[in-house]
Amino acid sequence: MANLEFHQFTCLDDNFGVLIHDPDSGDTASLDAPEAKKVRDALTDTGWNLTHILVTHHHGDHIQGIPELKDAFGCHVIGPAAEAGKIPTLDQTFGDGDEFSFGGEPVRVISTPGHTLGMINFYFPQSGVVFTGDTLFALGCGRIFEGDPQMMWHSLTKLMALPADTIVYCGHEYTLANAKFSVTIDPENSALASRMDEIEALRAAGKPTLPTTIGKELETNPFLRAADPEIRANLGMTGASDAEVFAEIRGRKDRG
Ligand code: ZN
Ligand code: FE
Repeated sequence: MANLEFHQFTCLDDNFGVLIHDPDSGDTASLDAPEAKKVRDALTDTGWNLTHILVTHHHGDHIQGIPELKDAFGCHVIGPAAEAGKIPTLDQTFGDGDEFSFGGEPVRVISTPGHTLGMINFYFPQSGVVFTGDTLFALGCGRIFEGDPQMMWHSLTKLMALPADTIVYCGHEYTLANAKFSVTIDPENSALASRMDEIEALRAAGKPTLPTTIGKELETNPFLRAADPEIRANLGMTGASDAEVFAEIRGRKDRG
């Protein structure tokens, strides 16, 4: 029985925090720790007690809250084996394909290098939820700081293979800016045009645009649509590989 509860909130300027709660055991995990105070406020709001932190990657805006939370709650910190040297507060590390249990559910670790080399994402197959950190955003993907486009594309294909109804939580609210870029790459996509309207309405109301789903991203996120014939025609890249088309789209966003 999938019965985990998910509570999303905003931190810092544009980061998301999420609490994952198992009502049976009371176990509660913070997905990354962007800002200790905001995580503590969310715990107060929900009445949950922090037992775990799940860390996606070593960037400061994802780990800076860990020491204070660990001091206050004595929680168990799980993160990427490949970045253990950069995240001094880890109690347990995992790599690609590893599985552990949280709140009675299996959690599958998917390594998605590109934004950082050791990035891991957490997939809860029973709840149908994936936490993509700074790898996959709504209508976007992370900047490639440590890897290369080929590596990032391969990482994204792992997420694209998850069931279409999988719910996606990610690290940042970048959706409106991503949407404005997306229409320059995929101007004829009517699903993208109507999503743009939804996003503008949500942001105007001060509401988050996340979570999204894998299916929605496959339909509208240009970074996942490198195989699309219209996008390829727009870019003049009909004969290129998917990774090359992806690299061109990423490059245009970086330069824009
Ligand atoms: Zn990052
Ligand atoms: Fe980040």
